Amino acid sequence: MKCALITGGSRGIGRAICIKMAAQGYYVLVNYKSNTEEADKTLLQIQQNGGNGELLQFDVADKDQINQALGSWIEANLEKHIEVLVNNAGIRDDSLMAWMAEEQWDNVLKTNLDSFFYVTRLVLNSMLTRKYGRIINVVSLSGLKGLAGQTNYSAAKAGVIGATKALAQEVGRQGITVNALAPGFIKTDMTQDLDEKELKAIIPVKRFGLPEEVAHAAAFLASSESAYITGQVLSINGGLYS
Ligand code: NAP
Repeated sequence: MKCALITGGSRGIGRAICIKMAAQGYYVLVNYKSNTEEADKTLLQIQQNGGNGELLQFDVADKDQINQALGSWIEANLEKHIEVLVNNAGIRDDSLMAWMAEEQWDNVLKTNLDSFFYVTRLVLNSMLTRKYGRIINVVSLSGLKGLAGQTNYSAAKAGVIGATKALAQEVGRQGITVNALAPGFIKTDMTQDLDEKELKAIIPVKRFGLPEEVAHAAAFLASSESAYITGQVLSINGGLYS
């Protein structure tokens, strides 16, 4: 059975990607941190559309939880193969560098960057054995451009972009592609404190994007036809400078 694991699938962009992957025929593993109610809604929407999957709760910022929950799932489900991994879970915790607490730096780096390493390495082995895989990392315009007030988040996302390009070179000959999606402003819980009316003035298409528009790009990179696209960062930002 072909599976897609989407981290942070309970809400926002991750939920839209889960639904899209299910529509492409994947059995979807919906990871989330704590919001079981919202994760259930994602799974329900998948099932209502005729798809299938299951919840897989673990904190991507905690390597022991990753090893325990994801490691055990892989061992217990040898007939299921994770063909698509979307490293989507992320947080921001903004502050000017001068006032940034160590905890803000550590949490954002652990959740957005370290998670890439600890989740991906568990999934990579079976992709290498099967000589097929699609790894998609959700980064950000902040990781390309750098954004004031987000030294932690910009550093983490830029780190994932570097890792994307490096891993793409390591596993290209084994049929595995590794790409990144770099959203600009997308309407989710993460951006609900931002003023869309004010910010849309600087976005060429004059609006925030929708999670489904990011999911569309994820499905494109996840398809078997995208075999010759790897090590790339695809911006989804309505034409905002990247
Ligand atoms: P969101 O609406 O805040 O949803 C975040 C998701 O990540 C939730 O499913 C949450 O699970 C999960 N999550 C957070 N921390 C986690 C952890 N430690 N372990 C496991 N799951 C965790 O965020 P979003 O806007 O959809 O963002 C998704 C990705 O896109 C992030 O990587 C973000 O940096 C990136 N991005 C977003 C925007 C934007 O404008 N929205 C722009 C650029 C990049 P719970 O429900 O359990 O909390």
